[in-house]
Amino acid sequence: MNSLPALQERFFFLAKRFVAGETVDDAIGAVQRLNDLGMLATIDFLGEDVHRKDDALAVRAEYLRLLDALADAGALSNISLKLTALGLLVDRDFCVENLTAILDRAANSATARAPVDPFVRIDMEGSALTDATLGVFESVFPRHPNVGVVLQAYLHRTPADVARMVELGARVRLCKGAYKEPAAIAFKEMAAIRREFVKLAETLLSRGNRPAIATHDERIQTAVKALALQHGIGKDTFEFQMLYGVRPDLQRKLVAEGYTVRVYVPYGTHWAAYFYRRVTERRENALLALRALVGR
Ligand SMILES: Cc1cc2nc3c(=O)[nH]c(=O)nc-3n(C[C@H](O)[C@H](O)[C@H](O)COP(=O)(O)OP(=O)(O)OC[C@H]3O[C@@H](n4cnc5c(N)ncnc54)[C@H](O)[C@@H]3O)c2cc1C
Repeated sequence: MNSLPALQERFFFLAKRFVAGETVDDAIGAVQRLNDLGMLATIDFLGEDVHRKDDALAVRAEYLRLLDALADAGALSNISLKLTALGLLVDRDFCVENLTAILDRAANSATARAPVDPFVRIDMEGSALTDATLGVFESVFPRHPNVGVVLQAYLHRTPADVARMVELGARVRLCKGAYKEPAAIAFKEMAAIRREFVKLAETLLSRGNRPAIATHDERIQTAVKALALQHGIGKDTFEFQMLYGVRPDLQRKLVAEGYTVRVYVPYGTHWAAYFYRRVTERRENALLALRALVGR
């Protein structure tokens, strides 16, 4: 029977489209190629749902190494992370300690070394963790202004969360949301999610702090561009964000139009959950994956 690492190795060829590689060097190489195309990046060390302190400490150590490597390379990228990778499911205070160590290193890399972006984005996970994630964010934000959050347009609660984050002056990445959520708490129809997204984007564009519009949905991007124009909001006050390997044509088009584009670059060996979300959100990806497997 195949061991898990052997299976991982066998299927990595499928994940490669969405994942920069397994090492820090792979991630930085991908960022440098994006920088050459006029794009910024945010690097994510893949992993989530960690249940052992040792594993969370290893994730923290990897992020510290990554920040040093970014400074050495002078690559234009900040970082994104998941609180469950830093031990949120083990112990909240322990998770906050790990996060704080990363926030401090990011802030110090920026002053002590070459042009490192000190910003750290906390990704948003499933709805069972929304309160805990926002709670941790709010507890560190007063002393660490280099941290920001993600809000998901599909959740019914998000207009209130956007209002709160605007009031705090927090930097928000707005996305549709990638997890399976029940209809009692989340919009399920794409038309409703788009409508919510554009409404929330309007609030963030007009009153938020450097919002990030994270979508490959051209309809939303077009609406956001029109809103920015209508409200006289400069292209330098917000950014579009997209995922590594998804619609690179659109990424280049936005750069050519003068918008700031930041690409989310994941790396590491724990790519299965991330890859699963990318495959299941597009039927054609699932079919491609299946075809690739059968054809091998
Ligand atoms: C930078 C960034 C950060 C994110 N961070 C989070 C987060 O912290 N928490 C969270 O819950 N979600 C996050 N997401 C995921 C997000 O919630 C959506 O699941 C994902 O972006 C797909 O939605 P969409 O808006 O691109 O629209 P969709 O309607 O899914 O896609 C629009 C078009 O984009 C293309 N496309 C989209 N996805 C794919 C794909 N997988 N493969 C191929 N083509 C595709 C297709 O052409 C499609 O027609 C993030 C997304 C981005 C871009």
